[in-house]
Amino acid sequence: MPGDVILLGGPGAGKGTQAQILQKQFGYRQISTGDLLREHRNRGTELGKAAEPYMQRGDLVPDALIIKMVEGELQGDAAVLFDGFPRTVAQAEALDMLLESCGRGLPGAVYFEISRPLLEERLLGRWTNPRTGRVYHEKFDPPKVAGVCDEDGGPLEQREDDKPVTIKKRLDVFEAQTMPLVAYYRERERLATIDATLPFEQVTHALVRALDLEHAH
Ligand code: ADP
Ligand code: AMP
Repeated sequence: MPGDVILLGGPGAGKGTQAQILQKQFGYRQISTGDLLREHRNRGTELGKAAEPYMQRGDLVPDALIIKMVEGELQGDAAVLFDGFPRTVAQAEALDMLLESCGRGLPGAVYFEISRPLLEERLLGRWTNPRTGRVYHEKFDPPKVAGVCDEDGGPLEQREDDKPVTIKKRLDVFEAQTMPLVAYYRERERLATIDATLPFEQVTHALVRALDLEHAH
């Protein structure tokens, strides 16, 4: 049984895309804090209402709210792929304590290495099916018909925070608050790095190797 894994990388690095693939192929459970927050926002929960202004500005939602939300998601035996969490050192420390206290052991992290201009290009061209979470890119992975999902025929949307001003803010926030996690996991010898600029299948391949999943079917 594989252990819990953190997918670490900037917005647009391809974490969600790869998490969906690994989830299908290897039985992981994906926990995407961004997806969970958008669900809360759409349902109009207290958490959703509290998180909304931060998300709209491209800021991080306060650690205490995020940690409490993740704590509520940690049941079941399946190994978890953390996607978009942790994003601060405080969140990383809290996750280590949380997982240790429920006997799961410390998670490893895989850093998706990619330049800022490429992240911008990926975010600007991202289209999502909000009902299923299927993600496309208008240039790198276009649907057969522009604006329509290949899988369920429903309309695709661009995320509200994928507009230039908010993208810049999110990338600044990533560099200032999340990049220190690369050192956090490297110092603890829990970091693998992959080249996230490669084509989709090659990134999957690199991840499978980094996680030593070749024989894990
Ligand atoms: P993240 O979850 O890290 O924010 P996504 O998985 O949503 O990133 O990917 C961001 C955008 O980049 C999407 O439009 C996706 O189709 C595209 N993308 C993801 N991986 C690759 C890749 N290896 N090559 C080209 N485009 C990619
Ligand atoms: P994402 O879908 O991962 O790009 O996240 C979208 C937005 O949700 C971010 O810009 C933040 O406002 C918020 N968010 C998601 N995950 C976290 C987290 N771990 N910590 C703080 N804020 C988060």
